Amino acid sequence: MADEVIKRCDLLVGRGRNRKPHGEVIEDGQSTKFRVNGRDYEADLCTEHRAALTEAVSDFIAVSRRSGTSLPRNARGRAVMRAKGGVMFTTKDVRRWLEDEAAAGRGEAPSPSGRIPNSDIERYKMANGLA
Ligand SMILES: [Zn+2]
Repeated sequence: MADEVIKRCDLLVGRGRNRKPHGEVIEDGQSTKFRVNGRDYEADLCTEHRAALTEAVSDFIAVSRRSGTSLPRNARGRAVMRAKGGVMFTTKDVRRWLEDEAAAGRGEAPSPSGRIPNSDIERYKMANGLA
């Protein structure tokens, strides 16, 4: 039987020389995970301080869309598609390739702002050995 690891709240509370980790036992033993600007964070927070975190960002959550886990995002927030062999690409890569193809007289350049049709994404994958 594995030893049960007791997690305690790491948030620093108090001022000056009295500043120290809160130390309250985390009831469910779970770290609090959150993501800001594409970085993942994990903190050991008690129920009270977990609520404080949620409260602190509530104005931002209120105007946010929930993003599913369907498509991972790159550092610029673009949806990243995963192809054969784990190769990742974005619609920007597809767009660039379509422009090169059009410049070489193969196919039409994509409209500058429009969405990239799935058929073009498939062409990109085929041509780049990603299908
Ligand atoms: Zn705490």
